[in-house]
Amino acid sequence: MLSIVTLMLGIVRTNTYLIADEQSGEAAVIDPADQGELIVDEAERLGWRISKIWLTHAHFDHLGGTVGIKNRIHPPPSIALHPDDSPLWRLQGGAPFFGLRFDPGPEPTVEFQHGQILHLGNNQFEVRHTPGHTRGHVVFYCAAESILFCGDVIFHGGIGRTDLPGGDYQTLIASIQSQVLTLPDETRLLSGHGLETYVGEERKYNPFLI
Ligand SMILES: [Zn+2]
Ligand SMILES: [Zn+2]
Repeated sequence: MLSIVTLMLGIVRTNTYLIADEQSGEAAVIDPADQGELIVDEAERLGWRISKIWLTHAHFDHLGGTVGIKNRIHPPPSIALHPDDSPLWRLQGGAPFFGLRFDPGPEPTVEFQHGQILHLGNNQFEVRHTPGHTRGHVVFYCAAESILFCGDVIFHGGIGRTDLPGGDYQTLIASIQSQVLTLPDETRLLSGHGLETYVGEERKYNPFLI
């Protein structure tokens, strides 16, 4: 079984998902937005051990907490990102575009590939490449739990913005059609911002998709 704790962190209130395999206590952090120390405190309170950091994409508001986690945990967790987002990571996660300066912290050490299977205890997650919001955006699908961690690809009633460097509207819509809307209606969508929703709900009511 998978346990999920959602923490809303950082200046644009990004959803950080601290997830764990209940049996082994092995935990991963999806998009540690900010305040890495707080994320580690929460994991310790729950008796979980963070061994992996999975980044849906390299925007600064999704990875500001990596440095705090890495400084607190030994051995440090692996950090994974799709290689198509490495240039964005090196550009401080796009922060200069907002007039901000940002230290992206420790560099990712693992490269995601489309179709790759990730393991967390007995739980499995399929990596799906979903470009459009950024070039190297990925989502994580856990079929057994009917959950998609979908970053900034799709939101409750919205889609990711495509006006930032690397963004492309048609590419994003194509990613949503092929990698999200092909999943069963009851699949929970846990997004990078805002409330959770379901594939069926967005298929029916999302104004960008109907
Ligand atoms: Zn983003
Ligand atoms: Zn975001």
